[in-house]
Amino acid sequence: MEKITKSVTYTKGKYAELKAEYRNVADAAIRAAKRAHAPYSNFFVGAAVLLDNGKLIEGNNQENAAYPSGLCAERVALFFAGSQFPEASVRILAVHVTELPSDVLVPPCGACLQVIKETETRQKDPMEILLVNSEFFMLAEGVQQFMPLAFSRDYFPV
Ligand SMILES: [Zn+2]
Repeated sequence: MEKITKSVTYTKGKYAELKAEYRNVADAAIRAAKRAHAPYSNFFVGAAVLLDNGKLIEGNNQENAAYPSGLCAERVALFFAGSQFPEASVRILAVHVTELPSDVLVPPCGACLQVIKETETRQKDPMEILLVNSEFFMLAEGVQQFMPLAFSRDYFPV
C-alpha cells in the first residue's frame, strides 16, 4: 500500500502583468459576464475561448426558472466553439465572475471541468485556463491542474 500525492501548478499574478494575448481573452470574458442571464443567482459569469484559428468566442451563464435547464458560461462558450469550429483547438479559456472581492478567483464547476476534459481529449492538447478579475489572474495549463484524476474516454475498454 502506498500513499500518492498529486500536486497542481499554476501562475498567479496581477491583471496588469498579463501579456496582451491573454489580456485580450480576459477582457472578452469580462465583457461577456456583463451580458449574463443570471436573475436567480445574481452570479454573473463570463467565459471567452481563443481558438487556434484566431476566433475569439464569448459565452456567459444562462439561467432558467427551471434551474437545471440553465448552463454555465464555460460550457456555453465551449459548446458554441465546438459546434461552429469542430476542427479548431481551444488554446485559452478565460473565466470571470463580476462583483466579487478582488482576491477571489472562481474556478469552473465540476461539470464544466468535465467538458474541458472532453475538449482537451478531443483536441489531444491541453488548453490554458485563465481565471481573472479586475486585479488578479490565475493561469493553469490544462484541466489536470483542477481535476488531476479526471474521467475520460481513455478509461473505455478498447
Ligand atoms: Zn460550470
